[in-house]
Amino acid sequence: MSTTTTTSSAPGLATLSYLHAGKWVTSGTDRYGQVNNPSTGQAIARVPLCTADEVDAVVKTAHDALPAWAAIPVVERVRVLFKFRQIMNERYEELAKCVTREHGKTLVEARASVQRGIEVVEFACGAPSLLMGQSLGNIARQVDAETFRYPVGVCVGITPFNFPAMVPLWMFPVAIACGNTFVLKPSERVPMSANLLGEMLVAAGVPAGVFNIVHGDKVAVDTLLNHPLVRAISFVGSTSIAKYVYETGTKNGKRVQAAGGAKNHLLIMPDADLDQAASALQASAFGCAGERCMAGSVAVPVGRIAQPLVERLTKIGRDMKTGPTDTGDAVDMGPVITREHRDRVASYLGIASGEGASVALDGRDIPAARGEGFFVGPSIVDHVKPGTRLARDEIFGPLLSVVRVDSIEAALEVGRNCQYGNGASIFTKSGWAARQFKHHFNAGMIGINIGVPAPMAWFPFTGWNQSFFGDLHIQGTESIQFYTQQKTIMTRWFESAEESHIDPVWRSGKA
Ligand code: NAD
Repeated sequence: MSTTTTTSSAPGLATLSYLHAGKWVTSGTDRYGQVNNPSTGQAIARVPLCTADEVDAVVKTAHDALPAWAAIPVVERVRVLFKFRQIMNERYEELAKCVTREHGKTLVEARASVQRGIEVVEFACGAPSLLMGQSLGNIARQVDAETFRYPVGVCVGITPFNFPAMVPLWMFPVAIACGNTFVLKPSERVPMSANLLGEMLVAAGVPAGVFNIVHGDKVAVDTLLNHPLVRAISFVGSTSIAKYVYETGTKNGKRVQAAGGAKNHLLIMPDADLDQAASALQASAFGCAGERCMAGSVAVPVGRIAQPLVERLTKIGRDMKTGPTDTGDAVDMGPVITREHRDRVASYLGIASGEGASVALDGRDIPAARGEGFFVGPSIVDHVKPGTRLARDEIFGPLLSVVRVDSIEAALEVGRNCQYGNGASIFTKSGWAARQFKHHFNAGMIGINIGVPAPMAWFPFTGWNQSFFGDLHIQGTESIQFYTQQKTIMTRWFESAEESHIDPVWRSGKA
């Protein structure tokens, strides 16, 4: 762990610092959270839950840093991000290992998530082109019109536990490239990767106060949501908190983009390639231990493919090796985030029979579950009825519910009844079925023969329904719109006597 981001005030356990005005500061709080290694169940750090006064001071610092940062030409601002990208690439493995250690996903998954985050930095490095406005000469007689983009002010990012580096990277590179200053409040369950990112951005030369980190819980979040100097809030997390953040932030006159929870459907048509579909479903449902907002959590096989699909998936799931991810051993799946969350995921296997469903693969009784880590293995519940908790609730673990249907219309109906609307995929060889699905399934991100249809940095993350609150989504050019405000300028210049020295031929032009 980095020495610049920790102090050791508690015996045996490093305490994280927060980043204020370019300096790593020890919080004066008397409230702390514990960061665990989910693979071992052991505490690895203490995270301070910053006080409202500390958060207030950080926001004021970010506000003070605004004019100077916004005045730097965007071409120079993004040079800091080019350097940041270079440092991230040099320290890629260190960052991926930190993600694995505090979150539990496998190193392969952690590396992929860091790569997705670096791509957002690459997108943000294009800000000089992305910030260009529009113009039209002579929109009315002798009048020219043009638009410019300006930063909105102090922006805030509040992030979840499931992607400790990637989700913060969805936000701050774009915000600061646009000339804003930023306060990140990472999940108190995985704050170490955020500190590592802060350390790299400081090393890249970001001026003091432009990028800051506060640690904390509801106290810190509420201070940010109610702070008069905060202008924009990006949030990613569960639906209930996303709704709360959206309502509180907008009530206080801030622009808010708040991405919430999900229950993603995977439709398998009878003509699908079984091997390809089963392997995509495995990666989607059990990758990152099911703790992805784009994880497939309900398989909807149409017709005769249901039985062979469940049999194939059950075998694949049973053969997967679940275990600690930080020991260097090759494993296919790691733990979930906490003991309580493990118990919650497992509890859905307990309610299956009461809901008329049957457990095809039970992840509770795997060897890793006997240790101290927070393990539950790949699990499959078959014959799940639409409308039941297994079909409806976001479980956010390696548990795949199977809702068997007999037509694509019935599958579309399952989607229509879902309160969420993040991602959905279809597996088929039929262009007609794919087209029906693409246009009519009730979700904002669609995959065709793709298990996890998560858009990359250049495209917006377009969740629907209770999976997103706001207007402008995270990522892509919508993020440039979110982090800027426009000015439209109409100009007319009148010819005057003082300009008689100008070449008469040129002056006679009446464009
Ligand atoms: P969470 O909602 O518990 O926490 C998210 C953030 O909100 C954290 O920083 C936390 O400190 C803060 N928070 C928690 N309770 C709060 C409260 N009462 N008041 C104010 N702030 C509070 O989410 P999580 O468990 O960390 O993350 C998992 C969730 O995130 C899942 O629901 C998942 O689907 C969702 N998620 C969504 C997306 C997406 O793009 N839609 C991406 C990743 C994760």
